[in-house]
Amino acid sequence: MNLINADLHCHSVVSDGTLEPEALALRAKANGVELWALTDHDEIGGQRRAAAAAREAGLDYLTGCEISVTFADTTVHIVGLGFDADDPALAQGLAATRGGRAARAQEMSDSLAQVGIKGAYEGALHYVGNPDLISRTHFARYLVEAGVCGDTHEVFRRFLTEGKPGFVPHRWARLGDAVRWITQAGGIAVIAHPARYKFTPTEEYALFTEFMGHGGRGVEVVTGSHSTAEQVKYADTAVEFGLLASRGSDFHSPGESYTDLGALPDLPGRLTPVWQALQERVQRA
Ligand code: AMP
Ligand code: MN
Ligand code: MN
Ligand code: MN
Repeated sequence: MNLINADLHCHSVVSDGTLEPEALALRAKANGVELWALTDHDEIGGQRRAAAAAREAGLDYLTGCEISVTFADTTVHIVGLGFDADDPALAQGLAATRGGRAARAQEMSDSLAQVGIKGAYEGALHYVGNPDLISRTHFARYLVEAGVCGDTHEVFRRFLTEGKPGFVPHRWARLGDAVRWITQAGGIAVIAHPARYKFTPTEEYALFTEFMGHGGRGVEVVTGSHSTAEQVKYADTAVEFGLLASRGSDFHSPGESYTDLGALPDLPGRLTPVWQALQERVQRA
């Protein structure tokens, strides 16, 4: 059960990935993935296509999304899995969460202009697949194209992150709202890539306890941005809090992502995989 190749975190052109949902399904299949979820940022517009492409490719499928949340003045990502993609409250919550992105992007562009980088908004728009979802990643791709940086990782080191030019603080959804949108649509909420947040132990404890208080049930243990030590740490956390464990590459793009679809270590055997609790939500190939 722990040993199936599940990849429950990745992005398509519907958010900030570069591949269409159909291309992701084929790539996942080619890489040996057996259970797949497309988890675009703040958006479920690709779910129908992803589920159809999964069936076509012979992959089991779970619906997915990754909701941007502000917790303790930090952006935290909550992955939702196995929800009803036609749930109106979830759709409304995601639309509200996406709502501030266009104005934020304009401010990011103004901030970059102050350090001499002109036309970043228009440049980023060329990379946007979904006009509702302009993200920092699209700016990063433009800054590479413009020759400002060699790759998107360098862009995030030098720009677009706290304290750097192009960073604009933003208030995303509330933790409790995001967890409830997912849960009330029949899904399971999962804390995405917990090692990325650089919280103090006290803040991290608060995140996990509040998340569970709102009905959150899972944590990503094995994910593209976690080191082996971080996988062990969050495996311990999952056991300590009685959380279901998830596994996902967070794949965005062949040229940019270090971890390809499905190319991840297995979940440690002592954990309960989140897909065990979602058996009846799986759309079988
Ligand atoms: P946004 O939702 O617009 O704030 O953009 C967040 C996205 O930027 C993340 O989902 C990642 O795809 C990307 N990102 C954030 N930080 C980094 C980083 N340090 N290196 C590469 N990509 C990053
Ligand atoms: Mn992203
Ligand atoms: Mn994320
Ligand atoms: Mn992601």
